[in-house]
Amino acid sequence: MAHRTDSARGLCAHRGGILHFRSDPGPHDDPGSFEFLEDGLLVTADGQVASIGPARELLSALPSDARLVEHGDSILMPGFVDTHIHYPQTDIIGMGSAPLLDWLENYTYPAEREFSDPTHARAVAEFFLDELLRNGTTTALVFASVHPASVEAFFQAAAARRLRMAAGKVLMDRNCPENLRDTPEAGERDSRELLEAWHGRGRLLYAITPRFAPTSSEAQLASVGRLARDFPDALIQTHVAENLDEVAWVKRLFPRARSYLDVYDGYGLVRERAIYAHCIHLDPNDRARMAQSGASAAFCPASNLRLGSGLFDITAADAAGLRFAVATDVAAGSSFSMLQTLSDAYKVAQLSHQHLSPLRAFYLATLAGARALGIDNCIGRFAVGMEADFIVLDLRATALIARLTARARTLSEKLMVLISLGDDRTVSRTYILGREARAAAMMRSGSAARS
Ligand SMILES: [Zn+2]
Repeated sequence: MAHRTDSARGLCAHRGGILHFRSDPGPHDDPGSFEFLEDGLLVTADGQVASIGPARELLSALPSDARLVEHGDSILMPGFVDTHIHYPQTDIIGMGSAPLLDWLENYTYPAEREFSDPTHARAVAEFFLDELLRNGTTTALVFASVHPASVEAFFQAAAARRLRMAAGKVLMDRNCPENLRDTPEAGERDSRELLEAWHGRGRLLYAITPRFAPTSSEAQLASVGRLARDFPDALIQTHVAENLDEVAWVKRLFPRARSYLDVYDGYGLVRERAIYAHCIHLDPNDRARMAQSGASAAFCPASNLRLGSGLFDITAADAAGLRFAVATDVAAGSSFSMLQTLSDAYKVAQLSHQHLSPLRAFYLATLAGARALGIDNCIGRFAVGMEADFIVLDLRATALIARLTARARTLSEKLMVLISLGDDRTVSRTYILGREARAAAMMRSGSAARS
């Protein structure tokens, strides 16, 4: 009887290496911060984690009709969480090389204009989500465009894939092209309608999304503050202190604010579940204020290197207790791959004479993101009852990776190989609520199947 019940629940056991985090390993790889099972078993049922532990202990208790999937020496870990990405910029990856403000004008805005067409928005949302899944990203905090239909299209595509995703309509009412402008009133009304329709619907979350301070009037920022107050459990996402010209521009636009971050703080936007992309040119007061408020930084190394914006200061963030997670920032970042983005994060740390260990890098790509979004009780680690979104990283994805992981003596060395050489090929499978998502996604995106 017990067996039949388990079978009906779709009990499935995944055997392989298993790595997940309980807390931030910090600069010194705190040994209590993670669990690594060299020969582990992750059992899922009803889309959730049913149990996790050493294979030798759990296999004997497994009902005979449970499905067993052998992953060999691959490493299973929670799906990646990308805390900052723009889906309407999918088609401008790699275009242009200008600094931030010129890049917005010449590439971003023209691309986002196309999202007034819901058919276009739908097609790009489908492609974007499949690309995320191919790269092992199971949750992301996503900018749509200024058009409410772009958010609808995104959420519909995410719901069809049963994904835990967060997104919001961009708010901008000045200093941008006329045909991408909303008004404080229309932006607030549209955001409210989208919040009521989508926030907490299934696995979806809404993020209140002012693009950045320069493109919102004081009246619009006040409306954003009202939304944040009326929907305290919604997310907030925006950009701060990315580029020095941008910081100087904000100073001219908001002369009374103590700093760029202080502009947002003045409207009640610095709080838990608020995620600020970049946070490069902050001062100690800003970092302390973010840490104290529970707001998080999205560290976007690929984007910061590509646009020449500057280097995120990991040591200063740690000293202040400022929480941060890693993000791709497509399309200023030119890869959907969190593995490639971790490689850039490592190099940013090196350029600053700082250190990012491979263990901590994987924490920043998984549990740190779930924490920033306030959903670490649902995703980002493995525990009984958590949602079973996970990925399989193939230690033999390429001939070179196979050579190097075979020579690696420790878990950290293996992880360093994956960071240095990994990309979408390294993610052999992606599971959403216990079901494999890869096959359909790969077919839709036209890639060759891998065994
Ligand atoms: Zn961005």
